Amino acid sequence: MIVSVIAGCISCGLCAEEYPDLFVLSDEGIAHPVAHEVPAGKEEEARQAAEDCPVNVIITA
Ligand code: SF4
Repeated sequence: MIVSVIAGCISCGLCAEEYPDLFVLSDEGIAHPVAHEVPAGKEEEARQAAEDCPVNVIITA
């Protein structure tokens, strides 16, 4: 599974707080995936993060 953060992150911090294995915030406060390939066993967390993001900029495929 691949995870991406597309343009439009509002820097709420939720994904990095809830799923620190999957997301980090840049110095500018924009979220990025720790790795585009979701680690084995973390797929459900990635899906949940995508669902939880208030502006729907986390994309899984
Ligand atoms: S949950 Fe969405 S808006 Fe909030 S920091 Fe993560 S990507 Fe950005």
